[in-house]
Amino acid sequence: MPEPKKKVTPRRSRLRRAHQKIDVPALVECKNCGKMTRAHHVCIYCGFYNEELVVVPKVKKVKTSKEEQD
Ligand SMILES: [Zn+2]
Repeated sequence: MPEPKKKVTPRRSRLRRAHQKIDVPALVECKNCGKMTRAHHVCIYCGFYNEELVVVPKVKKVKTSKEEQD
């Protein structure tokens, strides 16, 4: 098995991992429905982009307590 030439010091590994982070998505308020959506993307809640209906969003079926009993 190949071996590393030198032991990586704790500082060196910490410096390397300092760049490993998850970016916070840029969220903006939708001009149509007011919910927070991704900037420069079609609103996932109402399907609007640039104050214009682009896609009709799929209506998610929410289970109610009555349906679960049946
Ligand atoms: Zn919206």
